[in-house]
Amino acid sequence: MQRPVSRPVPTDVLKQLSDIVGREHALSDPEQQAPYLREWRDRYVGRAALVLRPGTTEQVALIMKTAHEAGVGVVPQAGNTGLVGGQIPSETGAEIVLSVSRLKSIRAVDIASTAMIAEAGVTLAEVHAAADKRGRLFPLSLPSEGSCQIGGVLATNAGGVDVLAYGNARNLALGLEVVLADGRIWNGLKTLKKDNTGYDLRDLFIGSEGTLGIITAAALKLFPKPAEKATALIALPEIASALGLFGLAEERAHSRLTAFEFMSRFAIELVLRHIPDTKLPLQDKAPWYVLIEVSGAEADGTAAATLERLLTEATHKGLVTDAVIASSLAQANALWRLRESASEAQKPEGGSIKHDISVPVPLIPKFLKRAATVVEAVSPGARPVVFGHFGDGNVHYNVTQPPHMEKARYLALWDRMSAAMHGLVTRMGGSISAEHGIGRMKRGDLEKFKSPVELEIMRALKSALDPKGILNPGKLL
Ligand code: FAD
Ligand code: ZN
Repeated sequence: MQRPVSRPVPTDVLKQLSDIVGREHALSDPEQQAPYLREWRDRYVGRAALVLRPGTTEQVALIMKTAHEAGVGVVPQAGNTGLVGGQIPSETGAEIVLSVSRLKSIRAVDIASTAMIAEAGVTLAEVHAAADKRGRLFPLSLPSEGSCQIGGVLATNAGGVDVLAYGNARNLALGLEVVLADGRIWNGLKTLKKDNTGYDLRDLFIGSEGTLGIITAAALKLFPKPAEKATALIALPEIASALGLFGLAEERAHSRLTAFEFMSRFAIELVLRHIPDTKLPLQDKAPWYVLIEVSGAEADGTAAATLERLLTEATHKGLVTDAVIASSLAQANALWRLRESASEAQKPEGGSIKHDISVPVPLIPKFLKRAATVVEAVSPGARPVVFGHFGDGNVHYNVTQPPHMEKARYLALWDRMSAAMHGLVTRMGGSISAEHGIGRMKRGDLEKFKSPVELEIMRALKSALDPKGILNPGKLL
């Protein structure tokens, strides 16, 4: 595969590219470019010859055709909330950023409101609002939903807290419109649930992190809105109890079990310590906590009754030591806030080495035990802040620095700790990136932990769809 060389983009090509979108939307001024060149944590900062903001799919196609002919690297960007640096250009200044954020139209909602066609720059929150207007639900929910956009959400196959019941972004897209590396447009905006006509091209682009094509629009699946939600925070005597409780919850609530999240004692302690107006509404100190949500189609108390019965049974079985069921929406929100603040609550404690991993659900307790040994070996005294989507086997295994250690010295251990952690995860049949993707951050690890056959297939797909290697160079592969 040819790689675009890191040489400056010729002036005549820059002019052609600018003319496609018009001067107002071709940003070359460093101040105007700045928001597109750095991500919110400032971990990745790049440079770009040009930031282009096309307003139509046809403009995206023309940009790609021009970039392809000239061999210019193109970095697709949507809401710029990605956590692995995939949306940020390299430091060479020889690439252009293609922002889809002006592709903002919701083209259609079908008559029965089972599908919506939204362009790539529509934010997740705007999709929620448009579905809500029709009395429907688009059940993908992320803390970044006010900023992240459909193109980025699908390109990263984002997850979140509703995956247990509804699946991740991949399961919520029926079709896509994609501009290929050479500027051809693939219109795959079908809203069919069934289509067995060969390779699934849609699934190829979802999760491809901008390396195979530019997603310009998507057909999204809509659902009926649950009329009732019952939420409980539960204290467990040990992590193994979470497995028993999860099995019981699935048996009793079936598909109405819409969340099964977990947090360690230390994670909750940090939330209580650093996040204003938070309170733990339970008596006992427990080593682990679980947040369960059961939904109901009717507002008739069925969900609450199911949850109560489940907790009574679990208490009899010794799986639960204490629990509180929210009696109002405000209380439910307060319980969710404990879980959703876990990431933010680590910041005041200094450096944190983060792992977004998954293992088969039954292996979570074993993984946690072994992971703690890994941490002690790499950085004695470092403190695991464990939380995540238990029901999906997805653990956010973040490790906060030992108190009083210098932050930079601790963060210098990142590669050593991740290599050991990802080795453990791989040996246990898990994944080194459950939600956030590979981007720049985990590219080296992908090479190390994917099998040679998997890497060969991925490279073959990349060469077939992007023979000049102009789409998001240096990311993923
Ligand atoms: P960007 O950041 O702009 O791009 C992400 C990647 O997609 C890049 O590789 C980019 O090149 C590519 N890309 C962007 N647009 C396109 C396109 N149109 N066509 C092709 N490729 C494209 N993720 C989860 O899964 N679960 C969470 O719970 C979660 N929580 C988060 C919380 C916070 C506070 C933040 C900041 C992020 C969180 N994320 C989470 C990360 C998640 O990846 C992003 O929120 C979202 O999915 C990315 O969307 P974006 O529009 O910001 O994409
Ligand atoms: Zn998550």
